[in-house]
Amino acid sequence: MLTQSPVTEIIRQQRQFFAAGKTKDVAFRIEQLKRLKQAVVDNKTAIMDALKADLNKPTFEAYALEIGVVREIDYALKNIKSWVKPKKVSTSIDLFPSSAQIYPEPLGVVLIIGPWNYPFQLMISPLVGAISAGNCATIKPSELAANTSRVVREIIEKTFEPAYIAVVEGGVETSQQLLAEKFDHIFFTGGTKIGQIVMEAAAKNLTPVTLELGGKTPCIVDADVNLEHTAKRIVWGKFINTGQTCIAPDYLLVDRSIKKDLLAGIENCIKEFYGEDPAKSPDYGRIINPKQFDRLAGLLKNGEIITGGKTNSEDRYIAPTVIDKVSWDAPIMEDEIFGPILPVLEYTDLTDAITKINERPKPLALYLFSKNKEKQQRVVQETSSGGVCINDTVMQVGVSELPFGGVGNSGIGSYHGKASFDTFSHHKSVLKRSFLLDLDWRYAPYQGKLDMLKKIIG
Ligand code: NAD
Repeated sequence: MLTQSPVTEIIRQQRQFFAAGKTKDVAFRIEQLKRLKQAVVDNKTAIMDALKADLNKPTFEAYALEIGVVREIDYALKNIKSWVKPKKVSTSIDLFPSSAQIYPEPLGVVLIIGPWNYPFQLMISPLVGAISAGNCATIKPSELAANTSRVVREIIEKTFEPAYIAVVEGGVETSQQLLAEKFDHIFFTGGTKIGQIVMEAAAKNLTPVTLELGGKTPCIVDADVNLEHTAKRIVWGKFINTGQTCIAPDYLLVDRSIKKDLLAGIENCIKEFYGEDPAKSPDYGRIINPKQFDRLAGLLKNGEIITGGKTNSEDRYIAPTVIDKVSWDAPIMEDEIFGPILPVLEYTDLTDAITKINERPKPLALYLFSKNKEKQQRVVQETSSGGVCINDTVMQVGVSELPFGGVGNSGIGSYHGKASFDTFSHHKSVLKRSFLLDLDWRYAPYQGKLDMLKKIIG
């Protein structure tokens, strides 16, 4: 007798559950979203403790950026009834009488694979979309945030039966076992290279994918800004979660005329936020593991450190660091930094800055600080990135109405709010005809009908 792997068995059970049709009922989905919200609320302390153990994540950041995922649940609860409604579209006169509608329907059994940097939120947020759209889901948290992975499993196991929502813990091997199965959608958050592996595996089963990847997010700073606000917003966006944020500003591209003042402002802000010794600050996290620590420590050799630079390998501590005099071909400018190191480059002409950005792979986000409306318009129109935020960093992620995702190397597809529902739905086109009329303009014999067709089509 063939024994099935646990993964294969979970998916078999989920297929059965889905086929029974329960998830198509909107009242069922609403009930499950409420249960999920309650589970997050009831387990806040365990979640925050796990995030502390994995990343030394400050309580405030854990609350705002991980537990805060309940706002996505609330948004789905508020809007789901309108999302599930079929949408009417118009039909052409030659189909009279008829009506046409777009029906959102669930895809079936979906897989969600997550990264370690926001290890709770980035599992639950796509799950909200999967549940809202009426799917069964298997989710695999990152093994590198092992404590949070365990808590995610415990919470989900307590809340849902595995035939509906299951958690499979494990590393690369487990991930590959899952990818060998046939799912109806794969939602992956992680690095670009692994994204390619995921897409290749999905192609074998013709499974659609959403890839939420990373990249080097530029932050342009024009001379026409409020320097104090600019410095604060850059320091916050760069150093929350110790720089391990997919949409953190990766590097600064500063108008030369204000560089000195901006860097002084940034240095002050770092002191203001994290004190003289950020290693002692309760509001400053740590690098996830020794491998990432070593990679980041190696990047400190680029350019001239103007603030920070201190490291402690035992504690996986890297101080908030700003590096000036970095050239475009320095190693730190090759890949996404994904840590608390901010290289600074300068420009004198915005056209050059835009050209430099456009020569590189399309980033997940792009930031511009400028009061100048014309420059704002130019940057939005002349560059391509997953999203843009003007005069702030990271905050775009909190707007549920804005789809979140990359373009080109930074990803495929998007989610948050209605976009999550759409990502996990198939939009089925339905045309209804009536028996009232049956004009024979399209039926053979065609003789004498072509002239009329030419008049209509032109
Ligand atoms: P990763 O790609 O290394 O891992 C992500 C997931 O893939 C993990 O669950 C891991 O177990 C699995 N995995 C790793 N190697 C695999 C393989 N060979 N085959 C199959 N599965 C494999 O990413 P990470 O290091 O956890 O996260 C950091 C990356 O994620 C950064 O590039 C960051 O920009 C990106 N990220 C993107 C977003 C976004 O929303 N776009 C959010 C957070 C992080």
